[in-house]
Amino acid sequence: MTVQLDDVTVHFGRTCALESCTLTVAAGETVALLGPSGSGKSTALKAVAGFVRPSSGRIRLDGQDVTELPPAKRGIGVVVQQYALFPHLRVEDNVAFGLRAARRPKGEVTRRVAEMLGLVGMTSYARRFPRELSGGQQQRVAIARALAIRPKVLLLDEPLAALDAQLRADLLIELQNLRREVPTLAIIYVTHDQSEALALADRIAVMRDARLIDLAPTTTLYQTPPSAFTASFLGNAN
Ligand code: ADP
Ligand code: MG
Repeated sequence: MTVQLDDVTVHFGRTCALESCTLTVAAGETVALLGPSGSGKSTALKAVAGFVRPSSGRIRLDGQDVTELPPAKRGIGVVVQQYALFPHLRVEDNVAFGLRAARRPKGEVTRRVAEMLGLVGMTSYARRFPRELSGGQQQRVAIARALAIRPKVLLLDEPLAALDAQLRADLLIELQNLRREVPTLAIIYVTHDQSEALALADRIAVMRDARLIDLAPTTTLYQTPPSAFTASFLGNAN
């Protein structure tokens, strides 16, 4: 599914968090939103998810205007830190949540949950509660939950932040595998970490002060940074 932000502006009170953002992500494509803290990355993602309402501009999925649709009706899988696992539900029930909400048949729910837990390597943790898992394991379950509804769009907001280096490397490989296994999935991947963007993204959108300032294929962006800001941001590896 193609995701389009068409001249999207978002205000929080007097703060302009996103200014005239235009971006198209094709089916099967992964675009990283890369930039320093406070540059508007999460706001752009939340506008696509429907968690914030644009002051102006439109959000389109496969050309259809969804700007007024509530998040649950957009068919998008979202992994953001604020939307953590439900603490009172076992891993399997967390993953089943969206399927049950959509009233899918029991057999399908069971099958789908098993499939998703297998995909993220969490099969043996199905009966555990979130508090019994490490941060990395919880994040895997969150990804399984997001994918369970077979979204055509996956939004990931700093999904590896706060994980240790080994877990980050493992999850990056899993996300690469996921791209191979679901080749039509459009992914928007928010990060301030250029190594993650480099590992996953077909294209990188660089954000600065609420604006998308550069957009280029990943290798192009690295080999010939379009702006001095991007050159210096990439040069200051974190
Ligand atoms: P990033 O994800 O790149 O760190 P954000 O999109 O979270 O940036 O924030 C962009 C700007 O909008 C920042 O100045 C931030 O303080 C502001 N902002 C974000 N969310 C809110 C909110 N709910 N209320 C007020 N200001 C916000
Ligand atoms: Mg953010």
